[in-house]
Amino acid sequence: MSETLPPGRIEAFAAIVGARNALTGAADIAPFSVEPRGLYCRPASLVLRPGSVAEVSAILKLASQTRTPIIPQGGNTGLVGGQVPATGGEIILSLSRLNAVRALDPVSNTMVAEAGVVLQAARDAADAADRLFPLALGSQGSCQIGGNLSSNAGGTQVLAYGNARELCLGLEVVLPTGEVLDDLRRLAKDNTGYDLKNLFVGAEGTLGIITAAVLKMFPKPKGKAVAWVGLKTPADALALFNRARAIAGGALTGFELMQRRALEFALAYMPELRDPLPDTWPWYVLIDISSGRSQEDARELAEIILAGGIEDGFAGNAAIAASLAQERAFWRLREDISEAQRPAGGSIKHDISVPVEAIPEFIERAAPVVESIVPGARVVCFGHMGDGNLHYNVSQPVGADKQAYLAKWGEMNHAIHGLVIEMHGSISAEHGIGQLKREELAQTAPPVALELMRRIKAAFDPAGIMNPGKVI
Ligand code: ZN
Repeated sequence: MSETLPPGRIEAFAAIVGARNALTGAADIAPFSVEPRGLYCRPASLVLRPGSVAEVSAILKLASQTRTPIIPQGGNTGLVGGQVPATGGEIILSLSRLNAVRALDPVSNTMVAEAGVVLQAARDAADAADRLFPLALGSQGSCQIGGNLSSNAGGTQVLAYGNARELCLGLEVVLPTGEVLDDLRRLAKDNTGYDLKNLFVGAEGTLGIITAAVLKMFPKPKGKAVAWVGLKTPADALALFNRARAIAGGALTGFELMQRRALEFALAYMPELRDPLPDTWPWYVLIDISSGRSQEDARELAEIILAGGIEDGFAGNAAIAASLAQERAFWRLREDISEAQRPAGGSIKHDISVPVEAIPEFIERAAPVVESIVPGARVVCFGHMGDGNLHYNVSQPVGADKQAYLAKWGEMNHAIHGLVIEMHGSISAEHGIGQLKREELAQTAPPVALELMRRIKAAFDPAGIMNPGKVI
């Protein structure tokens, strides 16, 4: 496809949204074309900011007729390049102006939110109705509901509440033809044929554009306890996880694992924070407990888990946050690890999952793989252990050349993903495929699955206008 659109095309699209909401200048388009890690930076030919579902529909209808590629974009926080140009000549369709919470029902515990509602705003709207919308991500101040659903976002509360897919009861989607699929039903039970909405969730905008969704809300927890535990091995962390789940059940809302090196990076990056424990351990877990009863109940659950863990020898030392500020500090040590890696130079990243019980085996087998590709590279392993999801990041060796190290990205990804596939895991647990992992998906997914995905894509988007160059 050409980098620029034919004469008259830009004007035709701009007329749908009005000149104010059609960005054509290079400086206006630039921030929409670059993703957070700066890996992709091909400029879009135009940015459209529709203000209604009817305008989205008109844009897609014209795009299908003229075979103009369209990229739906939310808060532009995705980490796999799904929301920025890949092939050239694309129009970015920003959903930011569709940002209304259309309805909120505390009895059925549902909210109807438009695609451009910022995740934090959806959480705040639920909170104002004394409810919880549990999706929680580092980027929640800027990412949007449409993008969260299109990438099936995970985050730190998946253990108790599920990922974005499990938080969605219904969708409104504009199809590439311009037709609108209205499936905004607020039903907990619905067995009427194929589950269409779940084809759009996680499709990264390759099948249609999500314009609104019915989201699930939950009762707000009445008490919280956050504990920091030092341990010797990932196997000990797994034993503690089993104990915590048996004791706390659904009240166990987070179980995060991190390596000592990850904590050291975080402490160096945020000197205002303290190491939660007086002694040093090779591994740590952060345990998050939410009680529907009371603060005392949450704390008691945490104390029972930790006392049993220490008595049985798989927890070394532990601290329970004594204040809200300390809870926040514990969580920041975990959440800001990726950022904290920056001063250490280049980082090759993996967002993988394996069955939870295989986490210790994966960690043991992955280290020599890394060492064989870049001797001296520093593994910074952390993640959502309760979901079997690790962010297996690898920082460059001390003093190495950053660009030379990052040139090993593909080779290291391929080797680590090979191990993941061998262990029946996933090469993308919560970030999606986008451009970054498209080749890896083609090389690692079963041929029958790939063929089915291609047939679904062709059935929904015969003109091939929806987010080309992504996923498949
Ligand atoms: Zn994560």
